[in-house]
Amino acid sequence: MSKVGDALAGFGVTFKAMFKKPITEQYPEQPGPVAARYHGRHQLNRYPDGLEKCIGCELCAWACPADAIYVEGADNTELQRFSPGERYGQVYQINYLRCIGCGLCIEACPTRALTMTNDYEMADDNRADLIYGKDKLLAPLAADMTAPPHAMAAGSTDEDYYRGNINALGLIQQPETA
Ligand code: SF4
Ligand code: SF4
Repeated sequence: MSKVGDALAGFGVTFKAMFKKPITEQYPEQPGPVAARYHGRHQLNRYPDGLEKCIGCELCAWACPADAIYVEGADNTELQRFSPGERYGQVYQINYLRCIGCGLCIEACPTRALTMTNDYEMADDNRADLIYGKDKLLAPLAADMTAPPHAMAAGSTDEDYYRGNINALGLIQQPETA
């Protein structure tokens, strides 16, 4: 093709593009949708009565290939109970300077305490604020939840919590089997 032909072909590409619908994302004014299973910021979940699901077992930290999670467990007592069972996560940190969003930590969690949200707006201008602690990771209290520390539901065991036999009012009475 001649040089003139090359130029016309090039301008043709530009001319066709002028009539295409723009695909510019208007971020941050209009954040775009993400895939339903997008791996965003983590969340530490609660049971329906407000107790924390995390038992401080550190399995998530051991599963993390980027060494991004730091956990310190501590014992619950009858006066200071944050989760059902013996232990809770007293210190829980995720370093988002290291996290690669792989999701191995949430697969390792035995109580489904740790899940990932669709929130991806975690940029900051200093390193310290990208280490998220429980203050940023714990799920907010729903209106019918009670902030820990508090006792487990009357008559319940930690297994009732794991099996989903608890609601915000207490132990769900199971129907008697014949
Ligand atoms: S998503 Fe992956 S890299 Fe990030 S904290 Fe979990 S295991 Fe570590
Ligand atoms: S988030 Fe899950 S795996 Fe990690 S310490 Fe808590 S209970 Fe264990």
